[in-house]
Amino acid sequence: MINNEMKYKAYQVHNFRTIPQLNVMSEEEKQNIEIVGNVLPFKVNNYVIDELINWEDYLNDPIFRLTFPQKEMLYEEDFKTMQLALKNKVSKEELKLIADSIRSKLNPHPAGQLEMNVPTFQGEKLDGIQHKYEQTVLFFPSSGQTCHSYCTFCFRWAQFVGMDGLKFATRETEKLIGYLEEHQEVTDILFTGGDPMIMSFKVFRQYIEPFLAEDNKTNIQTIRIGTKALGFWPYKFITDKDAKEFLELFKRIVDSGINLSFMAHFNHLNELKTEAVKEAIKLIRATGAQIRTQSPLIKNINDDADMWAEMWREQVNLNMIPYYMFVERDTGARHYFEVPLERTWEIFQKAYQQVSGVCRTVRGPSMSCTPGKVEILGIKEIPVGNNVEKVFVLQMIQGRNPDWVNRPFFAKYDPDARWMDDLQPAFSSKFFFEEGESTILKKQHINSISA
Ligand SMILES: *Cc1c(COP(=O)(O)O)cnc(C)c1O
Repeated sequence: MINNEMKYKAYQVHNFRTIPQLNVMSEEEKQNIEIVGNVLPFKVNNYVIDELINWEDYLNDPIFRLTFPQKEMLYEEDFKTMQLALKNKVSKEELKLIADSIRSKLNPHPAGQLEMNVPTFQGEKLDGIQHKYEQTVLFFPSSGQTCHSYCTFCFRWAQFVGMDGLKFATRETEKLIGYLEEHQEVTDILFTGGDPMIMSFKVFRQYIEPFLAEDNKTNIQTIRIGTKALGFWPYKFITDKDAKEFLELFKRIVDSGINLSFMAHFNHLNELKTEAVKEAIKLIRATGAQIRTQSPLIKNINDDADMWAEMWREQVNLNMIPYYMFVERDTGARHYFEVPLERTWEIFQKAYQQVSGVCRTVRGPSMSCTPGKVEILGIKEIPVGNNVEKVFVLQMIQGRNPDWVNRPFFAKYDPDARWMDDLQPAFSSKFFFEEGESTILKKQHINSISA
């Protein structure tokens, strides 16, 4: 049964103690949430609390871990520092300084994310836009830079905690359109954030209308919407007051001949079970829009091959298209969430082997690094003279240079590697895409990631 009266209500660190279900928790557990929630972003809503989390076993519940801060997300000394600050009731300003100093140790803007790939138009930097891969432009509408609920693992976490200068934002739809008119190679515009589906219809339509206008001279053929709304607030499309208008606009986009693709984040099978999410998917699909799905592999939340296989199958059953499995990025509480590359690949393979071809539209596991999206194809022992060399076989799904795409390459096997910058080239002193780059540049490039 869908609750037709459902109204959005959010809880953050200042009011989470009023969540009724929290009466199952000890005071110490609540304090832990408060301590970590003062450093990392914390926001959860009534749908997640009432319909997704199983409170009878909340400590082991994946959606609880996905949304509620856990003690282990901070290193012990940082946890103690914040604990003491709260106990001593330090001033707001001091609390922020302490929080920022802990945050700055957590690689808040994996290098390059803010300043790389930002294009210029008529001599001006376009701050809300990233153009890295030829065909696709990322757009960060200023009113779409928050979410219905925060994911504890999010790689864009820094923009939600108010660290200065961290937001990409623009209201400059005109400049966006100007840029796209000049760049006819761009076929896809990807609205991202935060979550563009946090916007009201009144605001959202302003970004879309230019693409539907008679005088549209861009070459946009696909509008993508990166969103977690189906997972965290499906009522957006059912009972919110502008739900109908959104659906009508989606239909207008499709009817105009533009492909509309939801890039929906689902991190766990449990997000696909409610009546509300099923209804929202149906309503969106009925407009002619497609829904593609993606998620990183995250320890403590979804590091389970059978769950992934079931999740992909269920996504197809609900008329969605599995798209990406990502490697969890090197930022925030990565020590809590990261899975070694070898195990990440094993989970992908074991899940992939269990599903039929219609689910195998999924690609991955993929690392979004500075040179491109690097996919782990497998682990292989290759004979070299009388020896064998064990290697990771990799390839780029997307490359900063389009010519790099779909060329298999090798990295030395390393059971502890967790990210691209842990990997060394095999059979060569450089990766093929580093030819001609200085060693220092190389290290920077590999270390940094962007979008
Ligand atoms: C992933 C990504 C895209 C989209 O790539 P597709 O392979 O087309 O899905 C576009 N821009 C950036 C910066 C990305 O990281």
